[in-house]
Amino acid sequence: MGGIADVAGKIWALPYTVVGLGIGLASLPFGSTMKFDYNAIVFNNFPVGFGGAMTIGNVILNTESTLNEQIPTYASAAAGPPYLDWVNLGSHESAHTYQYQVLGPFFVPAYLLAGGAFTTRSPFETAADNYAKTGSGWWPW
Ligand SMILES: [Zn+2]
Repeated sequence: MGGIADVAGKIWALPYTVVGLGIGLASLPFGSTMKFDYNAIVFNNFPVGFGGAMTIGNVILNTESTLNEQIPTYASAAAGPPYLDWVNLGSHESAHTYQYQVLGPFFVPAYLLAGGAFTTRSPFETAADNYAKTGSGWWPW
């Protein structure tokens, strides 16, 4: 996504980005660090433990020190160890930022209707894993 479409998408996703940024900024005194990466404002070392990364608009809250690590795909995690299929966490989360930029305010309702984070068949998560593996295909349908 480039140029005007990218800017328009970021404006469209802004309501979520503002919320994520507020949460991220509030976490800075508690040990998180901020940087621009993966098409987002990234807060690493996010101190509240949901264990992993969460994308809110163009903000990624990450409980680990870096997004540049390998995680099992949703399908592989569901199948259980040994995990055979791995993707880069930051690339996976960046796919969600692009999904936000297309869906804007409709992202969260659409994501929840598709099953949320706790189904292995969420088209949003499958698409994010595909994007992290191949560099394309972040759109869920
Ligand atoms: Zn995801």
